[in-house]
Amino acid sequence: MSKKDKGRCSFCGNELPYEQLFQGVDGRFICFECIESAHAILAEQFPEALKGNNPQESKQRKEKNRAEAAEAGIVNDGKLDMQTLPRPTQIKAFLDQYVIGQDEAKKHLAVAVYNHYKRLLQPETADGVEIEKSNIILVGSTGTGKTLMARTIAKMLAVPFTIVDATVLTEAGYVGEDVESLLVRLLQEADYDLAKTERGIVFIDEIDKIARKSDNPSITRDVSGEGVQQGLLKLLEGSIVNVPPKGGRKHPEQEFIHVNTQNILFICGGAFDGIEKKIAQRLNTQVVGFESQNKTKRIDKDDLLQYIAPQDLKAFGLIPEIIGRLPIITYLEPLDRAALKRILTEPKNAITKQYEKLMQMDGIRLTFDEGALDYIVDKAVEFKLGARGLRSLTETIMMDIMFDIPDKDCVITRELAEQKLAKIDANRLVG
Ligand code: ADP
Repeated sequence: MSKKDKGRCSFCGNELPYEQLFQGVDGRFICFECIESAHAILAEQFPEALKGNNPQESKQRKEKNRAEAAEAGIVNDGKLDMQTLPRPTQIKAFLDQYVIGQDEAKKHLAVAVYNHYKRLLQPETADGVEIEKSNIILVGSTGTGKTLMARTIAKMLAVPFTIVDATVLTEAGYVGEDVESLLVRLLQEADYDLAKTERGIVFIDEIDKIARKSDNPSITRDVSGEGVQQGLLKLLEGSIVNVPPKGGRKHPEQEFIHVNTQNILFICGGAFDGIEKKIAQRLNTQVVGFESQNKTKRIDKDDLLQYIAPQDLKAFGLIPEIIGRLPIITYLEPLDRAALKRILTEPKNAITKQYEKLMQMDGIRLTFDEGALDYIVDKAVEFKLGARGLRSLTETIMMDIMFDIPDKDCVITRELAEQKLAKIDANRLVG
């Protein structure tokens, strides 16, 4: 069976390459799209049938999150009132337990969440003051903690929250997902409770991937760029969006749910690779034009992201209307050696703590000495793997030990780490 050969899906009848089909014991096929539709129907009509949606499991997950939040002094019973709202300092302290550094971004995120709660609680007064939402954009190189920050904050939120990837979105009518699909996930997260959905938070990851590809949009149609941004704009601005509850375009018969996005908070994240050049260009022009010599010297060329401004996002290819709807721009710092070392040992769920726990279950006390930690960090930097690489490096070092299970306590020294990593192929490590 070659990869180019095709088979027919027994459900929708479409003929597709085998790599997009699953085969049953009777030799017949089902395509990915039908699997997805079946999943959506189960999620809606028989949520208890899905493992991930198992009410018992989801209850346990929520209880665990609640306990973790309570440890940080955050009451999370799903109700909102001014007395029990977590203060921004508490939210940041909660993030500090899992995310190393990134104080600036954490502060912005904490305030955004707090203000979001307050907006939802704002009394209707005659003064005419209405608190508007402040969507946020987080800019930072890949692997610096954007998604981790989003996942962590989700643990303590009293409103539905979902993370979606902008790369799968295309303009309506093209292959891929429509922009409305972002709200399907939020609906599912809110157990299809419309009122709850309309107060939720959506984290849109990889927003930079829908930047306009060229400055001249008229040459070719940019179905995954500007068109998607226009679609997204509708959501960010606040409007009534028709959402197909089952998602996808396979169910023309389904009734739309009308979701008002007015109160939904959007947090966007992206690496914006190469944006430093645009920042540098802007800073240079400014420097030549207006700034004094002294000011020039203070620019930290190794971390230009800290100077990010709306103009740079525009130069990168986001349309001005989208930028206008993301009034808070914040950045993540590049992770230096010291931060990488802290990531290995400090977070609540730190990598070394996980291996220590694994070995503890065999009755073995495992420790990593300073030299070994420094060596892992050196290798992550040398192979340009960033924080993501720390896990695969540690896993490689630990593999034989986990296989053999030593009969006495075990210390990972620099020499041992060097020996275990001596013959590895850096290309096979995940970064
Ligand atoms: P991004 O979304 O910025 O590309 P992620 O948040 O997915 O990066 O980070 C990848 C992994 O690297 C995380 O799961 C975590 O293990 C580690 N990591 C990255 N940044 C940090 C950080 N600041 N603190 C703790 N761990 C981090």
